[in-house]
Amino acid sequence: MLRRTLKYGRCTAEATRTGGAIIEREVRDGGLVAKKRSITLEPVKPVGSITANTRGHLAAIDAESAPYLVTEAMPPFQSRVGRISAGVDSIPPAATARLVDRGLVTVGPPWRSTSNGYLPETRATVAVSLAARLAMLAQDHRTYTIAPAGYVKPLDIGHDFIGRNSPRGGVTYDRRSPAGCSCRTWSATSVDGRDDARRLAREHRQQMTAEFIASLG
Ligand SMILES: [Zn+2]
Repeated sequence: MLRRTLKYGRCTAEATRTGGAIIEREVRDGGLVAKKRSITLEPVKPVGSITANTRGHLAAIDAESAPYLVTEAMPPFQSRVGRISAGVDSIPPAATARLVDRGLVTVGPPWRSTSNGYLPETRATVAVSLAARLAMLAQDHRTYTIAPAGYVKPLDIGHDFIGRNSPRGGVTYDRRSPAGCSCRTWSATSVDGRDDARRLAREHRQQMTAEFIASLG
């Protein structure tokens, strides 16, 4: 749904740390100037911060082609109940319960299998939820901006040719506002103040979200 919206709706999306997305769209309601409208899609339960330990579990689930949750098993396999089996990783019942309860993992309908080839076992397919993926994406791209220096002596910003004869007695106004991201792969400097730097940062987050949505295939 998200992918279709972006592809055909001339929209941009930005992942939120709660596991939702802000969809922004330009609309022209008769006027000459396009206005920006935005709606925020949120999961039923907002996703809180995701720790490194939880991320490890989600990565294990994601790496496995057919991860499943054991919901019923016979002795001596009852210790499997409540665990998520993801390849060589087995996520303990308490951690599994938290993943499901927080909406980080979705659980499919149950199906019958066996524990050891013949003792019956009930399993349910699990997957990392879209909300968890969006929240992790937002966590990975926390952007910041730095306020312009404002009135400075030109020499302090490496110029010695402007402002010297200005009425302000040799000071100039530095509007440059740097921006960066916690992913450490992006930074920029606006020459037009902090609001413009915030716009650049938002564009980076939107770009990262667009690439993520495209990768959903
Ligand atoms: Zn980033």
